[in-house]
Amino acid sequence: MHLPTVVILALVINLIVGFYLYLLYRRKPKDRCFRLWSFSSISFVLGGTLVALRPYDIAAFFTFFVADCLLLLAPILVLAGLIQFSRFRYTRRRRQQAFALLALTAVALLSVHQHPGILSVLIALAIGITFCLCAILLQKSVITEPTFTRTLQGIFLLHALTMFTQVMLILWQWQSLNSNGLPESSVYTLLSHILLTTFTALLLPWLCFLKLERKLTLKSQRDGLTKLANREHFFNQVERYWQQQRPLPAVLMMIDIDFFKKINDKFGHAVGDSAIKAVAQLLSKQLRCNDIIGRIGGEEYAALLIDLDEATALKISQRLCEQVEKQLQFVADAKVELTISIGLVYVDTSQHDYVSALKAADEALYSSKRAGRNTVTLGAVGL
Ligand code: GH3
Ligand code: MG
Ligand code: MG
Repeated sequence: MHLPTVVILALVINLIVGFYLYLLYRRKPKDRCFRLWSFSSISFVLGGTLVALRPYDIAAFFTFFVADCLLLLAPILVLAGLIQFSRFRYTRRRRQQAFALLALTAVALLSVHQHPGILSVLIALAIGITFCLCAILLQKSVITEPTFTRTLQGIFLLHALTMFTQVMLILWQWQSLNSNGLPESSVYTLLSHILLTTFTALLLPWLCFLKLERKLTLKSQRDGLTKLANREHFFNQVERYWQQQRPLPAVLMMIDIDFFKKINDKFGHAVGDSAIKAVAQLLSKQLRCNDIIGRIGGEEYAALLIDLDEATALKISQRLCEQVEKQLQFVADAKVELTISIGLVYVDTSQHDYVSALKAADEALYSSKRAGRNTVTLGAVGL
């Protein structure tokens, strides 16, 4: 590989990616990580260009000290972008510590800028450590797409390893360093550094797209009013539960607010909406977090209570009815006196299909309605 060609190509690609990331930032100014990553690419391009100017008659201060600082700034900005992306809360003290560390590094680099060998060691070491921090940060952040995140983490670690190898090579061949403060054998580590930087710049925007995609998917699965699973997502989850290798027996529950139409007619739709929300909140609070709960209609909810026996499920349902009656007498200052009716069936997933189970739970709910409402009926799934 012809090194100057690779360098020029990498600089051009980074410049384009930097510009592209800046356009993304202009489009989504809230995502400040795009701006930081854009500056990272530009910093790499400027640093690389100054390094390429070393053979020419330009002050060594620019082609060595400034160039190396810019090359180090590139991964630091990647790290800063990742901190923004992860929405990590860092305290003012942490920020001050980070700036103090940066200032200290700049002073250390300035004091050795006339010794290319020492400068190269310090820069490679600092870049390596920064990429290790990037990998650690990704590990701690909310994983959006595990495969992609792990790949990016692998690239960061490979990059860190490349930089530490560079340090070893410089120290090992200390006596025969060239005018750039590098041994001839470091051409491959240099090449890897350039390629990995370019690869990282190309991958970073994907991290945001995947996060956005996940956010939209989650939004499409939730009911806007109650934030419970919507009808489609609830039934998909139930179907998926049945398809599990060895699903535990469960209890399917249908819940409906009694005489809800009257509440709407008497107090208006806004109070009606608050009542729907209040019942959803009570259900979420009372049921376990691994139970599947959804709003499957206007004032209808359904829940799949996993690994539960009939007797306990009955007790839970009766308690739910009592709590709604007691706690939701008033909603949004209106005396609504809410009550709910529940129909439930015990399901053995190895014997019952979920369509029959849903039908049986629905029939049990209508038995509760016929029995006068504010009551619980235990039905049975027909085989
Ligand atoms: P029952 O005890 O038999 O269940 O009687 P009900 O009045 O609760 O049942 P019905 O099915 O007759 O009425 C349900 C009402 O719920 C009709 C509809 O206008 C209202 N509704 C459906 N979705 C919403 C919503 O999102 N907000 C509000 N405020 N009302 C809704
Ligand atoms: Mg109703
Ligand atoms: Mg209804």
